[in-house]
Amino acid sequence: MITPNMHYADLKDSYLFYNIAQKTNRYLQDHPGTHLYRMGIGDVSLPLCDVVIKALHEAVDDQADKGRFHGYMPECGAPFLREAIARHYRGRGVDIADDEVFVSSGASDELGDILDLFDRGSSALVIEPAYPAYVDANVMAGRRIIHLPSGEDNGFLPEPCDEAKADIIYICSPNNPTGAVFNREQLGKWVDFANSNGSVILFDAAYEAFIEDETLPHSIFEIEGAKTCAIEICSLSKTAGFTGTRLGYTVIPKALVRSGMCLNEMWIRNRTTKTNGVSYIIQKGGAAVFTDEGQEQIQENIRVYKNNAKILTDALDEIGIWYCGGKNAPYIWLKCPGGMGSWEFFDYLLNEVQVVGTPGEGFGACGEGFFRFSTFGSPEDTKEAAERLKKLLS
Ligand code: PLP
Repeated sequence: MITPNMHYADLKDSYLFYNIAQKTNRYLQDHPGTHLYRMGIGDVSLPLCDVVIKALHEAVDDQADKGRFHGYMPECGAPFLREAIARHYRGRGVDIADDEVFVSSGASDELGDILDLFDRGSSALVIEPAYPAYVDANVMAGRRIIHLPSGEDNGFLPEPCDEAKADIIYICSPNNPTGAVFNREQLGKWVDFANSNGSVILFDAAYEAFIEDETLPHSIFEIEGAKTCAIEICSLSKTAGFTGTRLGYTVIPKALVRSGMCLNEMWIRNRTTKTNGVSYIIQKGGAAVFTDEGQEQIQENIRVYKNNAKILTDALDEIGIWYCGGKNAPYIWLKCPGGMGSWEFFDYLLNEVQVVGTPGEGFGACGEGFFRFSTFGSPEDTKEAAERLKKLLS
């Protein structure tokens, strides 16, 4: 009889969003017709911008025309999109070659798939609280996971230390769930640490478009030495509303070499074996994001989410609750008032003011006592939620 991958038995039940759904459904059953103010969602609520929609329509028409039709796309991405993304990096002063960019169907897919590059005996460092997929993808592969807790004392931005020595290092900045962003100096320490230990940093930049402080790095490749130790994984999901359209990109510098193997070449071999590329239509839509017009238009939606963040953080300031994030990230990470636990606070907000957030404990043990608000909801709901929070907690 075949033996399945028994590491799946080591996965902890992903109860976070399941529990939230159970609790909110039960509340709605008991209180029919009640409107809930959902500040927990990690999905965007605004549609794709005009320039993207136009490009998608044109690409559909191309597929109807014998002369302009596209079949299989190059596995590593369409040259027009790889070139547009590399140019976007160069515009920010980061010298990336077109063939160091790989087009993907999104960051989630890539965060899982990229682990093919590493030996199963390698260890993985996860800075917690963290996006749950980092841990689960490595549990599935049977890897040893080192959990590095962070907290209020270091602003949820820990420094490298002996206990953090690992082969693979996950860094998510701006961070989900804390909204904290590493500055150049802090990120530089991780880059030096990875280079001196021969580790590889998997830098998740899914929220880079939300950075407004010009001194903060959008890309790890803005840091000297990163090309020899880092892979950057990006997504158009939150940047441009592609959560349901699906498009991302990954940068693997050719200078990233371990045990004589060039990881860029390995990834070409992987992609040409395991994918047949991303749809032509979607890549055309994605390329529109990197035009000047596209860059302006995506900011309109980001501005709406940022206004939501301001409404919520103003309310927290008024109440006097400790939080981080919200300024350079679409998440606000707050300390539950009165020493409440994460789930206790969840129940309290749901029952008293019908506001739904995400309990911090779901992102790792050190998230207990904290809570995440997302800013992707509607402005009307966000305003009302903020008023209700002020009334309840002031
Ligand atoms: N990385 C982080 C930190 C995320 O929060 C998310 C989605 O919420 C992803 C990656 C996945 O993004 P995508 O929609 O591109 O798969």
